[in-house]
Amino acid sequence: MKRSADLVVIGAGVVGLALANRWLEVHPGNSVIILEKEDDVAMHASGRNSGVLHAGFYYAPDTLKARLTRDGNKMLREFCAEAGVRVKDPGKVVVTTSHEQLPALETLYSRGVANGVELERIDEKQLFELEPLARTVSAALWSPTTGVANPVEVVSALAQRVRDRGGKVVMGAEVVAVAPGAVTLTNGDQISCGHLINAAGLYADTIAHWCDVGTDYRMLPFKGLYWYGNWPVDQLTRHIYPVPDSRNPFLGVHLTVTVNGRAKIGPTAIPSLWREDYGVVSGFSARELGGVARSFPRFLTSKEHDVLGLIRTELPKYSQKYLVNQAKLLAPSVRPSDFKEKGRPGVRAQLLHVPSGKLEMDFVVEPGERSTHILNAVSPAWTSSLAFAKFVVDGITG
Ligand SMILES: Cc1cc2nc3c(=O)[nH]c(=O)nc-3n(C[C@H](O)[C@H](O)[C@H](O)COP(=O)(O)OP(=O)(O)OC[C@H]3O[C@@H](n4cnc5c(N)ncnc54)[C@H](O)[C@@H]3O)c2cc1C
Repeated sequence: MKRSADLVVIGAGVVGLALANRWLEVHPGNSVIILEKEDDVAMHASGRNSGVLHAGFYYAPDTLKARLTRDGNKMLREFCAEAGVRVKDPGKVVVTTSHEQLPALETLYSRGVANGVELERIDEKQLFELEPLARTVSAALWSPTTGVANPVEVVSALAQRVRDRGGKVVMGAEVVAVAPGAVTLTNGDQISCGHLINAAGLYADTIAHWCDVGTDYRMLPFKGLYWYGNWPVDQLTRHIYPVPDSRNPFLGVHLTVTVNGRAKIGPTAIPSLWREDYGVVSGFSARELGGVARSFPRFLTSKEHDVLGLIRTELPKYSQKYLVNQAKLLAPSVRPSDFKEKGRPGVRAQLLHVPSGKLEMDFVVEPGERSTHILNAVSPAWTSSLAFAKFVVDGITG
């Protein structure tokens, strides 16, 4: 392997690859190496998500998420069209389950307008015409620009784009130490670099701490479980989402249509005790368990979020029946017996600001010495990735 590069990126998820791609776009001819500890790209959140191309109406107008999701949606669509990756356009309806949720629905609408996102208020009759399976209490929202794609296909195509531009994506290359201008791999190999970008997802805080960056932050993992339905293809035609609880950074259990027309329920946002927690004991690390356990009390006592409410509503979702019945509130014809096939779980890398006990809602990027650390590439960073990469790389290189 080449021992030096202009840029080294840690992590071949969608964010690391998008950053490498943008760097090569701005600096054609630069040497760029992406180091990935797994044997393939998209092995973690980037390949284990809902694949929903979000429109960008959930987020407060002054956030990075608002701007970068709206722009990222367009950019990802253009990329997919060029790369021959299929994008489906079911759109999304956001429905209410009680009159109390109507003010929150109106807030979403106002945010959509402020963020320059196409969004429509609709009544029950219009909802029925758009998606006969969905139910709402008097009003709903219609987002025509919410789409869906296969996340693994998108990330694989992005990796190919990076290779085509001359970047080198190295698999099985776990970074175990970082110094300004150099990284060390498990086999002892050292690579020197002009600049380092840490896009290590669930481990981004650990790597940042090695560089004395982001020391007030810790990653908290939240597990997302999915169940597929046995419904005929295209029985569900639109994504159906609830009104989210604005005190927490998750969107609530929803129904999505996959790019192949299958109905899928999930994901949960169940607090996890270690990072790559995909099964009963898979990825278990006693050290991580200790780290997460030490961070949870700050979160538990946080005044910023309804933590006990979150735990009370999320833990029962380990039960398939309970989880599917949550989706029944949005679409009454959903039955637990129809949603028996488990999907691949994903784990959200959610950043906690330890001193305040606050879960960071927006993307967080911190500079270090000759390095940049992507600390909170939370949902919808898959949608936003190309716009986010432009924002970050253009900020580094001026
Ligand atoms: C359940 C779930 C559903 C979601 N749904 C959506 C959605 O519908 N739409 C949307 O836009 N977003 C969604 N998201 C969010 C989206 O998936 C993430 O924001 C995005 O994938 C983050 O990408 P990433 O590249 O930062 O992280 P990752 O994909 O986790 O990539 C990080 C990479 O770094 C590697 N790595 C870590 N440590 C090291 C090391 N020491 N050395 C080398 N490599 C290392 C890892 O192996 C990994 O491949 C969802 C997320 C989850 C979990």
